[in-house]
Amino acid sequence: MNNMADLNTDVRYIKGIGEKKAQALNRLGVFSLYDLVSFFPRRYEDRTRFCPIAEARDGENVCIRALVADTPRLMRIRRGMELVRFRAVDESGSVDITYFNQNYVKDNLNRGDQVCFYGRIEGRGGRRTMANPVYEHEGSGKGVTGRIVPVYRMTAGLNQRTITQAVRQGLDACGGQLPEALPEEVRQRQRLVQARYAYENIHFPADFGTLELARRRLIFEELFVLSCALSDLRRQRISEDGLRFRPAETEDFWRTLPFAPTGAQRRAVREAMADMTGGKAMSRLVQGDVGSGKTLVAAALIWFTHQNGYASAFMAPTEILAEQHFATLSGFLAPLGLRIGKLTGAMSAKEKREAKAALKSGGYDLVVGTHALFSEDVEYRDLGLVVTDEQHRFGVGQRAALIGKGRRPHVLVMSATPIPRTLALILYGDLDVSVIDELPPGRQKVDTFAVDESYRERLNGFIRRLVGEGRQVFVVCPMVEENEELPTPLKSAEEHAAELQKVFPELRVACVHGRMKPKDKDAVMRAFAAGESDILVSTTVIEVGVDVPNAALMIVENAERFGLSQLHQLRGRVGRGRHKSWCILVSDNDGEETKTRLKAMCETNDGFRIAETDLRLRGPGDFFGSRQHGLPEMHVADLGADLNIMQEAQREANLLLADDPHLARPEHAALRERVEKLLTQSASGWN
Ligand code: ADP
Ligand code: MG
Repeated sequence: MNNMADLNTDVRYIKGIGEKKAQALNRLGVFSLYDLVSFFPRRYEDRTRFCPIAEARDGENVCIRALVADTPRLMRIRRGMELVRFRAVDESGSVDITYFNQNYVKDNLNRGDQVCFYGRIEGRGGRRTMANPVYEHEGSGKGVTGRIVPVYRMTAGLNQRTITQAVRQGLDACGGQLPEALPEEVRQRQRLVQARYAYENIHFPADFGTLELARRRLIFEELFVLSCALSDLRRQRISEDGLRFRPAETEDFWRTLPFAPTGAQRRAVREAMADMTGGKAMSRLVQGDVGSGKTLVAAALIWFTHQNGYASAFMAPTEILAEQHFATLSGFLAPLGLRIGKLTGAMSAKEKREAKAALKSGGYDLVVGTHALFSEDVEYRDLGLVVTDEQHRFGVGQRAALIGKGRRPHVLVMSATPIPRTLALILYGDLDVSVIDELPPGRQKVDTFAVDESYRERLNGFIRRLVGEGRQVFVVCPMVEENEELPTPLKSAEEHAAELQKVFPELRVACVHGRMKPKDKDAVMRAFAAGESDILVSTTVIEVGVDVPNAALMIVENAERFGLSQLHQLRGRVGRGRHKSWCILVSDNDGEETKTRLKAMCETNDGFRIAETDLRLRGPGDFFGSRQHGLPEMHVADLGADLNIMQEAQREANLLLADDPHLARPEHAALRERVEKLLTQSASGWN
């Protein structure tokens, strides 16, 4: 076997990984050797320290070194369920160890053996137990205990052992060959360890000090590559000629509205119009809290584009949002004579064909739709502006793909995810940004309360009263991940809906969750929006902006499980109509951090302030991890990036690019390859 494998090698050709394992790895997003060595552990188990049995706390994961005190017995408790049980002791105490359906343990362990176990201790005093611990005979040198053990994300067909082995084989296959993407002087200046050392130790750290060195280097590397990629996009964009529009008198548009635009809306439109008349292609992000009126900004620019004789495309992340935007934009623009069409995946083949024909012949001035708008067989005549709603679904690479689509239209991206300035610099490094920092007048604050289970009765009373007044209620439950180990059981959306239906037999309770087909989800949401149900229980699928002005109460169950920014987005689902609205955060968790976070929610309705608090409390890993930003998938989330590293990475990237803008120097070849890969990889999600 070649011991200097190319990093692009398909994992199935790596020694020790066959077809089957390769398929399972593919399900984890691991295709190439590079993916494999970059598949970082999500956490680590500290098996370095051995703990006397008597000192292990109830529920703690520990390594113990103990003597098998009696002969392991095989017991059959019922059909198909057998267990092996024995007692193990050390100088401090004893523990009962049980293995379920692992009968071979009986043959491997004998009375009098000295064995190291790692597992979870339950109980205290003389009644300690351990179920299915991993083990090795003392001095066996197998490395089951006595070291830091990586824990990876798993999938069916792979267990920790096989993933760990695969990674080991991947690292071995690289030999000494991991290309150094960081320029030498950057690495020196930032005091970062070498690539080879970092990749080895992020997986198999010798100790926690080494792990930290590896982690720091890899976070830096990833953010550095990202910063270079964003700068590259920006450079391409700035050098690119765009449609040069003639100025227009915006008052002509504002006059047609039933209300006056806010100062912030006017400013955003002015900034975008300056881009569009400047001769360069616009790439502008409009960032504004929920309810700040971003749609109107888009409408003004669509009108402006029409004044210049060009058509616009408006892309929404879901069918139902596309429909809502279609209705809203038609309200603003149809009276001004614009011809408005729709193109979504849910339309019939015939409807789609007609819509496409209209686009090709210039029959629409505006088309509103989903991703279907940019499938390969859609051709536009005179497309002048693309607007995408909810930035987090459309990535850096997708914007890059637009650049490749012939004559590049102006692009406006709208986002309701408030992002602190420090992060915005990195996340949107290639975009110009307009911030809408003002809400339309007369908005009421959504009153927010944090409560615990003891308020359940009163909360139910409140629901009953509001529905009695004709209002509707959202209830959000956290997503329960598969095989998640949790200290307290979480209610799934379905269970909770069933419970609520029992509590309120007279009310109409609906439920929508992530495992439903998009079509079924849409149907439930639509019915709720139409007032056909009173209470909608859901996982966070409602997060993405459906407008139900009649909803006046948002209840979030297990609120401690949500990020602050996520809670803020959820709260933005109510208070959209003329009704006084409330948000109730239910949590029995009395940890300090939870309290601080929920308190922040109760104190302010300002999304940016909330995002700052979130960043301070949880670090930026969660922003990267939440995939709400449209970035290519990052590994840093697992590694827990910190802000300083990010700022440094960006500073170094700017320095380097000032010197070698095209990364053309031979010593930057490895970096250039990584940057190009990042851009093409994330561009492939376009269709
Ligand atoms: P978001 O920024 O969350 O997308 P929308 O564009 O959906 O916000 O606007 C929220 C609501 O505010 C809509 O009903 C819209 O018609 C209304 N609105 C927008 N701008 C103004 C304004 N200047 N004055 C009054 N109402 C406005
Ligand atoms: Mg919106």
